[in-house]
Amino acid sequence: MTQYVGIIGYPLKHSISPLFQQAAFDRLGLDIRYETWETGTEGLGDVVERLRRPENLGANVTIPHKESVMTLLDRLEEPAGGIGAANVIAKTGLGLTGYNTDAVGFLRAMEEHGGFRARGGRVVLLGAGGAARAVAMALILAGVDSLTIINRALERARGLASHLAPSSTGGQWVTALPWDHQGLAQALSECNLVVNSTSIGMKHSPLEGRSPLDPGLLPRDALIYDLVYNPKVTPLLGQARQAGARTLGGLPMLVYQGVAAFELWTGKAAPVDIMFKAAERALET
Ligand code: NAP
Repeated sequence: MTQYVGIIGYPLKHSISPLFQQAAFDRLGLDIRYETWETGTEGLGDVVERLRRPENLGANVTIPHKESVMTLLDRLEEPAGGIGAANVIAKTGLGLTGYNTDAVGFLRAMEEHGGFRARGGRVVLLGAGGAARAVAMALILAGVDSLTIINRALERARGLASHLAPSSTGGQWVTALPWDHQGLAQALSECNLVVNSTSIGMKHSPLEGRSPLDPGLLPRDALIYDLVYNPKVTPLLGQARQAGARTLGGLPMLVYQGVAAFELWTGKAAPVDIMFKAAERALET
């Protein structure tokens, strides 16, 4: 019997998950189809309920449903509950289980492709949206020394900082700052990792071609990690390279969150190289 996995979200036109996940199923000779299940708010309950059918293995969940989907599931596996968002659903013996693989994908990419270990890090996180929540929790649990969250809407940054407080230890310093030149300059001069989790620079968006930072503010000794994966070299990464800083784009995180999802659905080791090649090809087209 053919089995199915899909991505649930809206809009899904630019998602490359179907391409690299299908390439992985095909490489392992699995009779699994990865489908695009474009779903607005009103259809979310039905599409999640359909996952209970025997032919369905689970799903990826993306914007705008990562938070709202949690109440429709039977259980959550940490860190999804702590983050407050699930990006993967898999069927287990205990029913529909929600996971957050963005956190593990973020850390794995940073370590393996950026050569940066979180423990002891001094981090500036730009943005406080859905991706920032997973990144911030991953960094706190992995033992960074300090995390400065800077967001256009300051209240959102403050909300994220207080959300992290119960998970952080006394030795970790978490703060929220407004998006202004002075705050940015101070925080950036003291950090060794900058993560852009805003959508600034994203292809096919009104923010395409833009960088979140003034090039003069870029710390040369830090790793500049942009979660935006399309284009591969974002304006921020281009500036950082020119300044001589180390850089990391969002594609490895995207693939590694998918690797973790693949392994939850199938119980098999994912063909990581095949997934990278398919993802890179998808961005070229
Ligand atoms: P989101 O929840 O909509 O958050 C968007 C963030 O961008 C917010 O902090 C928002 O600030 C900020 N922002 C948007 N426009 C801005 C502007 N003009 N000036 C300053 N800040 C602005 O989106 P998300 O899910 O967190 O995704 C954010 C980005 O990360 C997207 O590009 C997405 O593709 C990428 N991402 C990548 C991966 C990966 O695996 N590589 C995974 C997840 C997400 P306000 O709060 O002030 O509006």
